[in-house]
Amino acid sequence: MKKTRRAKPILIISAILTVILVITAVVILRVKPNVDKIISGLYRAIIVSPMKSETHGSITYYYENEGNFNEGMKFWYDSVVPEAHSIGEQYFGAIDSKKPDIVIFPDEKTKKTYHNINNVAAWYLGEENSIYLDHETIGVTTFVHEYIHYITYAFCQENNISFEDIPAWFIEGIAEYISMMPGGYDPNSFTLEGFVAFEEINELTEFQNLVDKGLNPYIQSYAAIHKLIELKGQEAITRIILRTKDVDFYTAFEEEVGMPFQEFQSLVEGLLSSN
Ligand SMILES: [Zn+2]
Repeated sequence: MKKTRRAKPILIISAILTVILVITAVVILRVKPNVDKIISGLYRAIIVSPMKSETHGSITYYYENEGNFNEGMKFWYDSVVPEAHSIGEQYFGAIDSKKPDIVIFPDEKTKKTYHNINNVAAWYLGEENSIYLDHETIGVTTFVHEYIHYITYAFCQENNISFEDIPAWFIEGIAEYISMMPGGYDPNSFTLEGFVAFEEINELTEFQNLVDKGLNPYIQSYAAIHKLIELKGQEAITRIILRTKDVDFYTAFEEEVGMPFQEFQSLVEGLLSSN
């Protein structure tokens, strides 16, 4: 009996040490996004849960610095967030899903210790239904971009569509396009260095690799959505997504635009390099 009792604390201590070592290793190794997924729940519990929180308009905001939050965020929860929701619903219709949590880190450095993705100002994680950003670098357009990811994810969930079946370039293009509206930018004003075939940026990791290489796949993704809407109207976005219930994405896309995907892609490429 005694022996067993003594053994228990040792087991617990070694288990705790193992967890601490694993966490430290993870922080030091600067994990890649796919590994992040596995441990993000753990991170969430350790880092986000103890933060202060407030709920406004069914959205819970997590933050560290009260002064920062009170001074800076009123404009966001009163104006920016409701506006982002309403813009999203103009494209996707009414969204009834739980609204996302918004986690505001005090600065970029703290944000990076949570989730070290290079060259990314903010991000939305569907599995946590949360938008992560920081006080130092967040801007309205970036926020709306992330919020549109939430709307797109929620739309897929509400319609039993696998979000993973939608290519990364399409998801990013939608978020870029809607967050730039109503002014938008004219794709003709950009010359794109290094156009990449859309079928090579189906995965988020492929998209991120291009960003890390200094390319800007956001522009060509934006241009694709711009062209799609020019040809078929803004409802084309949800029609294509809904159709992926029955056929694969590129078949759905070709049905919608009424031409082979390569032909559509050439139109987009032409749009960008015409300058
Ligand atoms: Zn994005």
